[in-house]
Amino acid sequence: MKTNLWEKYSDEKEKAVKEFCDDYKKFLSECKTERECIRYAVSEAEKNGFKSLKDLIEKNKKLKAGDKVYAVNMDKAMILFVVGKQPIEKGINIVGSHIDSPRLDLKAKPLYESQGFCMLDTHYYGGIKKYQWTAQPLAMHGVVVRKDGTKEDIVFGEGNDAVLAITDLLPHLERDDRKDIKGEDLNVLAGNIADQEAKKSQFKNYILNILKKKGIAEEDFYSAEIEIVPAGPARDCGIDESMIIGYGHDDRVCAYTGLQAIFETEKPEFSVMKLLVDKEEIGSVGATGMHSKYFENAIAEIMNLAGQYNELALRRALNKSNMLSSDVTAAVDPNYVSPFNVETDAHFAKGINFNKFTGARGKSGANDANPEFIAQLRDCFDKEEVVYQFTEMGKVDQGGGGTIAYIMAKHGMNVIDAGVPVLNMHAPWEIVSKVDVYETYRAYKAFYKMPINN
Ligand code: MN
Ligand code: MN
Repeated sequence: MKTNLWEKYSDEKEKAVKEFCDDYKKFLSECKTERECIRYAVSEAEKNGFKSLKDLIEKNKKLKAGDKVYAVNMDKAMILFVVGKQPIEKGINIVGSHIDSPRLDLKAKPLYESQGFCMLDTHYYGGIKKYQWTAQPLAMHGVVVRKDGTKEDIVFGEGNDAVLAITDLLPHLERDDRKDIKGEDLNVLAGNIADQEAKKSQFKNYILNILKKKGIAEEDFYSAEIEIVPAGPARDCGIDESMIIGYGHDDRVCAYTGLQAIFETEKPEFSVMKLLVDKEEIGSVGATGMHSKYFENAIAEIMNLAGQYNELALRRALNKSNMLSSDVTAAVDPNYVSPFNVETDAHFAKGINFNKFTGARGKSGANDANPEFIAQLRDCFDKEEVVYQFTEMGKVDQGGGGTIAYIMAKHGMNVIDAGVPVLNMHAPWEIVSKVDVYETYRAYKAFYKMPINN
């Protein structure tokens, strides 16, 4: 086993880790939905000199080397691009992560009554262990869009707010396995006061009256996107404070580290891009997922404004690019060692993690990173003294998983999975190591300077 990074780091570097992770915790605490992540990224991008692609197109502004551009897709996905000195068709160094996380979504008709309670009906999103979402404080984040197009952003359950909760049966009355909680059991307690004026549905009406004061009618939930997420901030974890526990490290930890890396990339030799995508947890589908043509179209627009667009040049740009599919992996868990091969799997405090293959069983559904590309990355990271580990996820035939890597590889570009090891992945509260977060940020920064010779 390589040295634990905490032993390797100087006092000065430990201070840098702490500062970086304090900012990361703030981001993670405030950005619990895709839209909240995009709002953060747009505001930080503008502070760092990025211009809106939409505005540039409208004003027909030309782009030159060193210019910084961002484009937002339906408020749930985004690209950030810095034009390189070399023509874009020579390739782009891309870091791509997803900003959707497992959660419970409110149904389109969420409000109902049961046993003198007003309840909210949910349908979970992504791979969750259902029992983990019961008996703990929950918050509600999202947006309601009215027929007239006006929007109401909703954040309820944070700071000093009241919180929401999903009940679980007491052990005294439990006969079956507690883990046998069904999707339809995940109903949120919304209230318990009756509206005396209402002729029927008194408990539901009491809640509807509260919503009415915010200008929200029951039918407005048809055009809403409301996510039930764990309430409260990300926090330091461990007596030594070496870790961070928070909601949605998968994959906002890679989104955040990649964003900081591109913000610090000035006048690169080859163009660089940061991708923030939605829907990875449910197969990268839809207009905002990685399968969408949106990202190719945005590159075409950027090449056009740089005076470099034609269909062949676009295809060459995609074909010659390098990509870090920046997504988390599972770290060896001291409580559950048996699903892991401790020799070949990822460990905390050993740096950014690379997976040549993801997938399941005989590598089904995987992306395969080319060894020529991997060799180039090793050279790049060794020169910058980035600490990394090359691993698999769990024992052979134990399970598996995928990322957006194989989708980008379809363009013929070099792609490898690269991200932060996580404990409790997909639980309401996930855990990462602070030094791995910092080393991942350093790796993305080094990658953005790497020459492309594909
Ligand atoms: Mn992920
Ligand atoms: Mn995931």
